[in-house]
Amino acid sequence: MRLKEKVCLITGAASGIGAAIAQRFAEEGAWVEIGDRDADRGRETARRIAETGGRVHFSPLDVRNRQSADAWAEDVIHRHGRIDVLVNNAGISAVGELHEVSEELWQDVMAVNVTGVFLVSRAVIPEMMRRRTGSVINMSSCIAEMGLARRAAYAASKGAVLSLTRSMQVDYARYHIRVNALLPGTIMTPFVEGYLKRDYDNPEEALALLKQRQLADDLGRPEDVADAALYLASDESRYVMGSGLVVDGGITAG
Ligand code: NAD
Repeated sequence: MRLKEKVCLITGAASGIGAAIAQRFAEEGAWVEIGDRDADRGRETARRIAETGGRVHFSPLDVRNRQSADAWAEDVIHRHGRIDVLVNNAGISAVGELHEVSEELWQDVMAVNVTGVFLVSRAVIPEMMRRRTGSVINMSSCIAEMGLARRAAYAASKGAVLSLTRSMQVDYARYHIRVNALLPGTIMTPFVEGYLKRDYDNPEEALALLKQRQLADDLGRPEDVADAALYLASDESRYVMGSGLVVDGGITAG
């Protein structure tokens, strides 16, 4: 049990990578707190995890909203008395070259992917500072390290998350809080399925191109990222600070 009795908060855990992290953490003995703006799906995910013996609780959460983030952290602290791990996973996609991106989409992707990390971290970190321990994991993307076609707004948001991660690490190291980022490649989730359908004329051709740009034969699975998150959450990574762990089937190496 690598997370025995640890209180772990995961945003955007109703679906995809977040749901896989929640499942994995629960299997390792954590108390899992799922926060997501999709309440139906969030409750369904929590029910599935509970059915396999996991200790899990769902709360409606909008990471863009200060009151929502603060209320979530307060409620968890009230029920558990502490927070050990925070995974800032909630995120949305934005496809298009810069001139195609509406101001509304730009603001929305920044609000969820960047401001969301800021607001939820700000709500949780004081409790970690009080106990002088904690692990924060921010979901960036391999796109933070490279240029990829038609991802201007999304890439900017994920680059910001990586920079924020390093700054947070410098500031909170003295409280023994570790802050690391995950940089996934193409992981088959509703997020990727959604943008393939919505933003490409030929989704099959787009999928083939996604596969071509990596070295691995298969696209990533949410569980691949969940295993990396487990490592960063657990004490096994005690010497890993301010890093960006790439889980991308070789996209950035190739
Ligand atoms: P997903 O769409 O399956 O899940 C994202 C979850 O975030 C959903 O449950 C959604 O309801 C929730 N969410 C969205 N906005 C929210 C908000 N304002 N407040 C609370 N919850 C909100 O996507 P995924 O593929 O599992 O992506 C998870 C994270 O991983 C995202 O940050 C994404 O950018 C990142 N990522 C994904 C990939 C990939 O290929 N799938 C690659 C790199 C990075």
